[in-house]
This record gives sequence, structure tokens and C-alpha cells, in this order.
Amino acid sequence: MARKIALAGIGKIARDQHVPSIAASGDWELAATITRHEGVEGIENYTDIDAMLAACPDIDVISLCLPPVPRFEYAAAAIRAGRHVMLEKPPGATLAECHTLEAMAREAGVSIFATWHSREAASVEAARKWLADKTLKRLKITWLEDVRLWHPGQEWIWEPGGLGVFDPGINALSILTRILPVPVHLRSATLKFPDNRQTPIAADLDFRHPGGAEVNAEFDWRKEGDQFWNIEAETDAGTLVLSDGGANLSIDGAPVEASDVALDGEYPKLYARMVDLVQTGEIDMDLSPMVHVADAFLLGKRETIEPFD
Ligand code: NAP
Repeated sequence: MARKIALAGIGKIARDQHVPSIAASGDWELAATITRHEGVEGIENYTDIDAMLAACPDIDVISLCLPPVPRFEYAAAAIRAGRHVMLEKPPGATLAECHTLEAMAREAGVSIFATWHSREAASVEAARKWLADKTLKRLKITWLEDVRLWHPGQEWIWEPGGLGVFDPGINALSILTRILPVPVHLRSATLKFPDNRQTPIAADLDFRHPGGAEVNAEFDWRKEGDQFWNIEAETDAGTLVLSDGGANLSIDGAPVEASDVALDGEYPKLYARMVDLVQTGEIDMDLSPMVHVADAFLLGKRETIEPFD
């Protein structure tokens, strides 16, 4: 029987991915939404999460698609009410609040899932397997996109806690932390802040790799025309290119077929994983992509650049 789920924060990603993925799955039934504005046609909507939790004891999973800053209060309310919680990326506005949520979930005996949708892109698993026994010499992340195209009208991305260019950049870091067999840590960074904004529009990151490989990332939200979401890794046995946000893979220029096509799409895979977590009572709260972002804000050199409108 389908498990009832409620969706909070009916914005771009909820409408583009969550609602269709839930509707297409036999495991889930969208039973309520929590939004201050327009909900989903035919689904009961609440403007307040506490009211929904009190009115719907049969909904035991809550999926949160809000921006990071307001998400904690919703997640904490759901856990206090004994519900399982699924978090859009990034799982919170700070690492400390994510640790708090995990501790609360353990205490309450409910599942919590920090989702990283880019890790579910079709070729990420094949890239991880290929890199597992190679010696890395150099890895370059190139994540260049046009913020005007992808985030029209979203002011929260420029507010404190909105992450700026790290909102897409953390997707690249979620792939990096999945495909590398050994962890890296940030050595230095430069963040470019428009004079009229609280968050960076571009960032360059340099990581220390335990084997001495050169590992760096370039994130830029000012790219017009062609968009790039690529990771290139040069190894002792050839060069891997993971392109289009993890969708496509080539080794030495030859395309490699995706190894993981059982479920089509990043979000259907996340919802399938949530079924497993709830059934087994497990917690999946990997914060490693967010650690790199936090380190970039801690360690990064700040450059103020021209205003961005
Ligand atoms: P969005 O379109 O701005 O929508 C977020 C929704 O959250 C809003 O429609 C609003 O819903 C609710 N919300 C906003 N501020 C709130 C507040 N202060 N308190 C309560 N609710 C608030 O944002 P989005 O693009 O969907 O992104 C949401 C999250 O998904 C972000 O963490 C983002 O990184 C992640 N994500 C986005 C994309 C993408 O392509 N856009 C892709 C993957 C992941 P109501 O008006 O209904 O209350």
C-alpha cells in the first residue's frame, strides 16, 4: 500500500521534480502540502506545518523543499511529531543545525534523509566505480551557469544562508564526495561577492588530496550561452569526463553507458531510497558536501565585485 507523504514548500523544485516523482511512484501518495501560497491541485493544503501534523496523524513522512534557512523549523516540528523527514539539498543553513536534526531523529527513532539529487545522476555510479582503483593526478570541476536562467525571481539565494553560487556548486561537491575513493579537504578559496549581495556569485576552490593530486573547482553564475556542469579527472589509466551534471561519462573521449538505469531520474531514485530508509529505520545524513561549502566561507578570500542585478 502507498505510504502517505506531505510536501512542504511548493516552489520550483517541488513542482518540477517532487510532485511528478511522487505521482509516478506506487510507493507514495501525496496526501497534503504545506505552502503559504498556491498548493497542488486536488491535494489538501495547509499554511502551517503544526496544523498539518495535528490534523493528519496518518501522514508519517514529510518532504521539505523549502530554501535552507526556513527548513530547520519545519524539520524539527516534523521530528517532534514523530514523522520521518526528507530534506532537499543543502540539508540546512548550518552544519550545527543539521547535527541537531540528526540527533533529534535518532532520539525520536525516525528516519532523516539528507538528499543529494546530483549523486543520483545517471553516470555518477559508473564514474565512482571507474575511479576506485585509479591513481588520480588532477581533477577539475567546472560548474558555469547563468543565474538569471535558473533562478529567476529567487531572492533567497542572495540572502545570508542562501549560498549564492554554492547552491549549484554544492551539487558538484556532492558528486566529488561520492566518486573520489579518498576524502579531500579545502586548502584555499576565493569568493566573489557582488557589492549589493550577501552571497557569492563566483568561487574558485583548491583542495588538498592525500595522494598529492591537483583538485580544484570553478563555480560561476555569470555564464551566458553554453552552460557547463563538468568534472574532468586525469588518472594514471586515462582521463574521465563526467558531463552535464553527472548524466554523461566518457573515458579518453569514448562514451561510457550509464551503469545505473534501473530507475529513470534523480528524484525517483531519492524517493525509492526514502522508502528503504523508512522501512529499515535508518538515517542517511551525509554532510560532506556541505563541509566543503562551510570551509569555503571560513577560509575563502573575499573579493567584492561590481553589483549584480
Ligand atoms: P523556490 O522556487 O524559491 O521555492 C521554495 C518554496 O519554499 C517557495 O515557493 C515557498 O513556498 C517556500 N518558502 C520560501 N521561503 C520560505 C520561508 N521563509 N518560509 C517558508 N517557506 C518558504 O526554491 P526552489 O528552487 O524550489 O529551491 C528550494 C530548495 O530546493 C533549495 O534548497 C534548492 O537548493 C533546492 N533545489 C532546487 C533546484 C532547482 O532547480 N530550483 C534543484 C534542486 C534542488 P510557499 O510559497 O509555498 O510557502
